[in-house]
Amino acid sequence: MSGRPSGSPGLLRNYVGGEFVDTGNRFPKISPVTGQTIFEVAEADQSTVDAAVGAARSALRGSWGRMGERERAAVLYRVADELERRFDDLVAAEVGDTGKSISQARSLDIPRGAANFRAFAEIVSTTPTESFTTVTPSGGRALNYAVRKPVGVVAVIVPWNLPLLLLTWKVAPALACGNAVVVKPSEETPSSATLLAEVMAAAGVPDGVFNVVHGFGPGSAGEFLTRHPGVDAITFTGESATGGAIMRAAADGVKAVSFELGGKNAGLVFADADLDAAVEGSVRSSFTNGGQVCLCTERLYVQRPVFEEFVARLAKRADELSFGWPADEVTVNMPLISHKHREKVLGYYDLARTEGATVLAGGGVPEFGDGRDGGAYVRPTVLTGLGPDARVNREEVFGPVCHVAPFDDEDEAFALANDSEYGLAGTVWTRDVGRAHRAGARLEAGIVWVNTWFLRDLRTPFGGVKASGVGREGGTHSLDFYSELTNVCVDLS
Ligand code: NAD
Repeated sequence: MSGRPSGSPGLLRNYVGGEFVDTGNRFPKISPVTGQTIFEVAEADQSTVDAAVGAARSALRGSWGRMGERERAAVLYRVADELERRFDDLVAAEVGDTGKSISQARSLDIPRGAANFRAFAEIVSTTPTESFTTVTPSGGRALNYAVRKPVGVVAVIVPWNLPLLLLTWKVAPALACGNAVVVKPSEETPSSATLLAEVMAAAGVPDGVFNVVHGFGPGSAGEFLTRHPGVDAITFTGESATGGAIMRAAADGVKAVSFELGGKNAGLVFADADLDAAVEGSVRSSFTNGGQVCLCTERLYVQRPVFEEFVARLAKRADELSFGWPADEVTVNMPLISHKHREKVLGYYDLARTEGATVLAGGGVPEFGDGRDGGAYVRPTVLTGLGPDARVNREEVFGPVCHVAPFDDEDEAFALANDSEYGLAGTVWTRDVGRAHRAGARLEAGIVWVNTWFLRDLRTPFGGVKASGVGREGGTHSLDFYSELTNVCVDLS
């Protein structure tokens, strides 16, 4: 595939200090579409991670550390341009690793990669720091102001669902603030991060500013990186349980952490909503990317007068979503990332039946009669009939599945939505403006969408409450994590 980044054919390597480096250990990358091994990846050992952290530290002492914000912003704009020049390679890399449709990679994943670099180039160039004039005890004046400085070496650990999008969401602000990064992409999706290394080099990012180490979590590159004494801060997107493990690893070095974690997101459909929009919006919010978006809706609550009609229409649309090869423009469904993940999702489909659910759509595995039968596909699934305490209504499945339950009034709807350990996103479908704003105030979630879903302005705060995250990224909130503020106080007398 043309999108396979640097390495000998069939091997993906680590990127350390501006060089692609091999290691003795290899692991296979399995296609989620066919189940075949598509290439091998060089797993970073402790010494490779040490070298990457060392290269990042050296880069901070070199030309990168002396650049001003505007110069760094100019580099970020060049990275965005180069990402666009390598657009087709990046699309191929992302489609090959995840099995997502080429149309989604072209319209969402790769454009957002470039947009992330442009957004943070702009934000870092235009965000001021505060200044105060202070009256001193002797009646004189002092000038207080704040200076932004990089945190240092930032470890960036990301999952497999939107690999380049989520990686650049963190790398762009980290570099904008003058840090050097060591990134560990998911073991399931190593390609686009490795291609990004080529993009960085071509855009003139100095060696050592961007490093990539491949491998797994515990006992592998992820843990070596999060426990590394040379790492100053850790930014992580992934499962809540992994966030806990990383927090424990970070505790020894008292490192700053930013966590974007799991969700069990609720969607509320009120009887006054535009029902066509609510059905189509819920199809998107439950089944986009095979349901493998942290923001996906897995719990829908629908006001009783429209419940039966809504459920019937949602189930029909779930059955209609097209399965095709990723390269077919009309393909909507995609495989799950791996057979291991499919076992987990099918386990929840079985559990739903055991817990007493009615399966209105999906609930199993599609049959193709071709190579895709070796892949990790499942059918988009619509469930009803479970209570709020059913495990399927409480635990994140991270697949194309949604349970739909009725409610009677607004208070009950908000209470049902909030009855979760998680608090990432909520979606509300209503024509009542007052209710829309009440939902924003009362839903325990980091983001509330009204009559839309996954509409993002990169200047806004992004993150979760409860088990869905620690801290906020996005806009100037990212600058707060990726830089340290020093207060300078000058006595003017
Ligand atoms: P995961 O937690 O299993 O893995 C994420 C990354 O962490 C991978 O690179 C993995 O190798 C690494 N890792 C695992 N254990 C580690 C350890 N002990 N130390 C260091 N690194 C470790 O998550 P996943 O299965 O790849 O992704 C799916 C999860 O990500 C879901 O829970 C989803 O909700 C969440 N997610 C959240 C957001 C958000 O913005 N809140 C966005 C996307 C995905």
